[in-house]
Parts: sequence; C-alpha cells; structure tokens
Amino acid sequence: MSEIAQTLEGAAKPDAEEDDALLEFGGPFGNLVLLFALPLIVAYLYFGWAFNGGSLIPGEQSDWAGWLRALVPTWQAIAFYLAWFGFQAALQAWAPGKIVEGTELPNGGRLRYKMNGRWAFVLSLGGMAALHFTGLLPLTFLVDQIGALISVITIFSYVFSACMYWLGKRNDPRLSDSTIRNFFMGAGHNPRLSKDALFDFKLFCEARPGLILWVVLNAAFAAAQYEAHGFVSVAMILVNVFQLIYIADYFINEPAILTTMDIKHENFGFMLVFGDLAWVPLTYTLQAAYLVDHVHDLPWWVAALAVAMNLGGLYIFRAVNLQKHEFRSDPENAKIWGKPVEYIQTKHGSKLLVSGFWGLSRHFNYVGDLLMAASWSLPCLFGSLLPWFYPVYFAILLVHRERRDHHFCKKKYGEDWDRYCERVRWRIVPFLY
Ligand code: NDP
Repeated sequence: MSEIAQTLEGAAKPDAEEDDALLEFGGPFGNLVLLFALPLIVAYLYFGWAFNGGSLIPGEQSDWAGWLRALVPTWQAIAFYLAWFGFQAALQAWAPGKIVEGTELPNGGRLRYKMNGRWAFVLSLGGMAALHFTGLLPLTFLVDQIGALISVITIFSYVFSACMYWLGKRNDPRLSDSTIRNFFMGAGHNPRLSKDALFDFKLFCEARPGLILWVVLNAAFAAAQYEAHGFVSVAMILVNVFQLIYIADYFINEPAILTTMDIKHENFGFMLVFGDLAWVPLTYTLQAAYLVDHVHDLPWWVAALAVAMNLGGLYIFRAVNLQKHEFRSDPENAKIWGKPVEYIQTKHGSKLLVSGFWGLSRHFNYVGDLLMAASWSLPCLFGSLLPWFYPVYFAILLVHRERRDHHFCKKKYGEDWDRYCERVRWRIVPFLY
C-alpha cells in the first residue's frame, strides 16, 4: 500500500459546533457509544428471531445460553466470509465493466470507477446456486452458521475500519481532533491503493459484499424453510422476490450511486463499513429470517397490497434517482417528463434541479424507499415487531439523513440553498413533512 488517492470534498476542517456534533451522530461520545451499540443491536435482533421465538421482548422462551454459544466464531464462518469478501474483491478488480467518471470534485477533477456490478451479481448468485444444487455447500450452511457469521463480520468490520483509518488519515484536512470521531465517521473520502487505481474501497463496500450477501442470505432462509416445512411460503417468496428486484435494480442502474450522499459527502469510516458489511445483510434479512418458522396463510389482498406498494415504491425510488442522475450527467440536454429541465444555478457551480419529482419535495426518492420498506414487512403480518424493525429504523434513518444532507448542502451552497428550499418547500413527503 504505497500511495493514497485522497480526493477531498470541501477542504475545510470541520468545526466543533454543537449542531454539527448532533448531526454527526452525537459527536465523539455518541460515536463511541454507536461503535459498540450497533454490533450489539445486530446480535440482539438475531437473539430475537433465533432464540426468542421471533419476539423482541425476552420472556420464558428466551434461550440466552444458546444465543451466546451460537455467537462464537467458527472456522467455517471465518473461511466462508474471507472467501466471500476475497471473491467480491476479485470480481470488482477483474470483471469486465464500463469505466465511468464520478461527479466533478471541488478541485475540478473527477474520479474514475469501474461499473462491473452486474457481473459480480450474476456470478455470485450463479456460484452460490451451483454450490447449493451440487450439494458442495448447501445454502442452509449459512443459516446454521449465522451466529458465528455475525461475530466474524463484526470483527472483520472493526479490523477493516482500522485499515481504512490508517489509509485515509494521511493528508485529510477534514479530520477533527477526535480520533474516535475520525475512526467512526472516517478519515478518508475515497480511499484507493494508488492514485490511478480504479478500485475504490468505499464504492466496493457500499455495493458488493453486503448487498449481494443480503440476497444470498434471503435465499438461505427460504431453503431453511423448505428443509423444515417441506415448502416455501407465499410470504417468503414475496420477500425474496421484492428484495431481489431491489438489488437487481441497483446493479442495472449502478452508476446512479455516484451522485448519492454516501459517495459524494461521507468519509469512509466504521459507520459506513459496518453499515455496508454487517448491518445491511444481517438486519435487512430479518423478514426472511422471521418467516422461516412463522408460516401463515397470507390473505390474497394483503399479498396484492404488498405487490402494489412494492412496485409503486420501486418506481418512485428509481425514477426520482434517475432524474437527478441524468440531470447531473448532462444538465443542458436533460429532459424531464418531455420538457426541458428547470434548475437553480448556484454560485458554487452545481445546478439544483427543481422540476419533475425534485419540484415536489427535496427527497421524494425517500418516499419510494419507505413504501418499499413497508411492503417488505407486510407479508410477515403483525404477530411481532421484529419483522417491522426495518421500516421503523429506516424512517428514522431517512429523517436524520435528510437533516444531515440539508446541513451539508446549506454549508456548500449558502444562500442558493435557501432559495432552493423556498422554491421546494417540503423535505420528504409533500404537504406532510
Ligand atoms: P440523494 O440521492 O437525494 O442525494 C443527495 C445529494 O444530491 C445532495 O447531497 C446533493 O449533493 C444532491 N442534490 C440535492 N438536491 C438536489 C437537487 N435538487 N438537484 C440536484 N442535486 C441535488 O440522497 P441519498 O444519497 O441520501 O439517497 C440516495 C438513494 O439511496 C435514496 O433513494 C435513498 O432512499 C437510498 N438509500 C437507501 C439506503 C438503504 O439502506 N436502503 C440507505 C441510504 C439511502 P451535491 O449537490 O453535492 O451533488
């Protein structure tokens, strides 16, 4: 690891204003708490579905000892995860894909990214299916090892974050005086091994090991249900298909990630590392995990409602994100709903879109995400809070995320952002919030 490519988004050192601290997850103290609380939440949710009868509230049914035993790392889990991570890294590095430029950086340059996620997605799912059907590695292996995997991925995330901290901390003027904050929020913006390397650690972690593992784990839970009950329930099929479509859609529209907040504004620290590698595959699969032993007849109208909400949400999510992506890629020629786009030209140089969905609210894409989130839990019905964890957590995350984005943009665009907010009044849901 010789050279480090650091491309910095705004070179100002962050001040220690209180509002900053609050938005940055409670400042160093909040970051310290979250460093340990996030893995504990993941482990507790696992306790809920596997050792507490699918409930979040402990009771007579709780098997604490079984849970603790299951969390002990095993050699099988270590071998699987290292092989998985290595395989994903190899695909990112060597699978064919278009080279795409990211959005313009403040210093005028642009980073290049290799967009080969479709290959990674197809080869990973094909590979896991082949291992399953040949009997070399049945998918249920992952369910048997899930407790150990939780511990392995968590330890891996701490170690990997330490590597990213070491890689990124050199010459990043955005660093604060707090090591804890730098470790949690990240010390590097776009850590790469060399200046010209295409392998971007942040993009890789955002999009590959965790996102694809999410789909694989869902399939593993379906296989476990089949093994236990001799069939796969309609609810399980719906959850698997909905989430598969969501991830497939991501890979079909992969370059759209380059204009998101994580890629443009966030440093790459424990928060994103753990979020990408552990939180996504281990908590977004809760619905499928819950359904393994909660088999019910799903009323047809609930299934129909879930399908409608999922498709509606997916359409909104994708259409809104693509409107921004296409506009930002070619502002002068972009058209929305057949008309030339309207935008606010900022003194900073960027243009803020105010037509199409971006005229309805500042983050109408979040409405799509929330609809989808609810549709993923609906097939689990209302017997427990556990499968509803994702929509509840996600609503809180998106409200907080909108506040942080507002704060970043206000700092970046100043009065132009105020003008934009006057023109587009609603933050997320028009006429409500
Ligand atoms: P956005 O895609 O809305 O991106 C925000 C950035 O876009 C801003 O920082 C700003 O950056 C730019 N921007 C804001 N307003 C405008 C405008 N009017 N015109 C042009 N550019 C604008 O938000 P996110 O990155 O938060 O989310 C992306 C998607 O990912 C969403 O659909 C979200 O729901 C989803 N998501 C899903 C998660 C999950 O766990 N499932 C987690 C997080 C997000 P700048 O001006 O600097 O370019």
